[in-house]
Amino acid sequence: MERRGFIQSIAAWAAYGSVGSLGSFGAREAFAQSVDKKNLEDMQKNWKALLADGTPDVAVAPPLKLSKDEWRKRLSPMEYNVLRDEGTERAGTSPFNGEKRPGVFVCAGCALPVFTSAMKYESGTGWPSFFTTIPGAFAKSTDYKLVLPRTEYHCAKCGGHHGHVFEDGPQPTRERWCNNGVALKFIPKTKA
Ligand SMILES: [Zn+2]
Repeated sequence: MERRGFIQSIAAWAAYGSVGSLGSFGAREAFAQSVDKKNLEDMQKNWKALLADGTPDVAVAPPLKLSKDEWRKRLSPMEYNVLRDEGTERAGTSPFNGEKRPGVFVCAGCALPVFTSAMKYESGTGWPSFFTTIPGAFAKSTDYKLVLPRTEYHCAKCGGHHGHVFEDGPQPTRERWCNNGVALKFIPKTKA
């Protein structure tokens, strides 16, 4: 089991580290032209326009602290593995890889809004990927689990692990937020 976990980790690391940066250059450049800095700021500020009133605000979200047992009851085993044990789902397994509807992605642990559909792009890695986040949604730390240090990020409200952020994403941020799909839930746009 340990060995299998290690091999999966190495495979995940190889994919994180190389597949993304080898992703279609042309597609990334085309994407860059469609999102300038002004669009980016609007996208980050205006995410609430996608959802019905009453959706929790990132800025005022109180922290959610639960015991391991409480998390086990609240989450599926896969969700628990990723969110609470910093696991990584297998590449290509998330239904969110192909999710293209307008809407908002929220944390599967606590429902905090973390990304909008407009922040998502096709990285070719097999994990849902985003070039920016809803401001304040995540905090970062350095993880030394694999050979090279990586920047891990986790939900600002419940502390749940979501993925790793790399610097080979598209313009205008050059960021690639490589997120486990199982750590997310999707709310299709509810406002007209
Ligand atoms: Zn959360």
